[in-house]
Amino acid sequence: MSDTKTRVVLASKNEHKLEELRRILEPSLPGLELVGYDGPAPVETGLSFTENALIKARAAASATGLPAIADDSGISVNVLGGMPGIFSARWSGPDRGDVDNWKLLLWQLNDVPDFARGAKFVAAAAFVLPGRLEDSVLGEWHGTILRGARGEGGFGYDPVFCPEGSTRSAAEMLPEQKDAVSHRRRAFDALAPVLRSALGLR
Ligand code: IMP
Repeated sequence: MSDTKTRVVLASKNEHKLEELRRILEPSLPGLELVGYDGPAPVETGLSFTENALIKARAAASATGLPAIADDSGISVNVLGGMPGIFSARWSGPDRGDVDNWKLLLWQLNDVPDFARGAKFVAAAAFVLPGRLEDSVLGEWHGTILRGARGEGGFGYDPVFCPEGSTRSAAEMLPEQKDAVSHRRRAFDALAPVLRSALGLR
């Protein structure tokens, strides 16, 4: 029996994302080898998480000739009609960072009562097999927006997001606890069977 693994490129330059997705995908797909991508990044002109994930996966597939996966994610706040949504990374402006983004969100929700502070993290996971197949799935992680930041872990909006059924913010969870239930975990768990059947993986 051959030990050769099937290489799939992840359309991201982010090493942490590569490690996270290896932790998620490789146990259920031992025949898969996820590799990083260092090529040109496309402009994300999509109007949804799904469109943007597909744009990124198509770019990595066409630059490398390999099957490609990509994700696009953000936070959707009910009372803001689903925003920040695809604008999550630059909600407070193009040159601002994570802390500016969640501070602006807290300020916008200052007068919103607890019962109306529902939100969800959303991740789209896309798969492109060059010239043959495109598919995408969504994963969601529901919760509420806290009244202040809590915790030192995670990134992005984690300090102000309290997952449903939890007393801690996402930034107070251990990485492996977040990994087990996050929107990315749910999206890539749903994408795994698509990869298995399209690539004939173990
Ligand atoms: P991207 O999908 O890597 O472009 O992420 C978009 C933005 O969404 C990030 O910059 C964060 O602000 C936010 N985001 C996505 N996933 C998470 C998460 O797991 N925790 C906190 N913020 C997140």
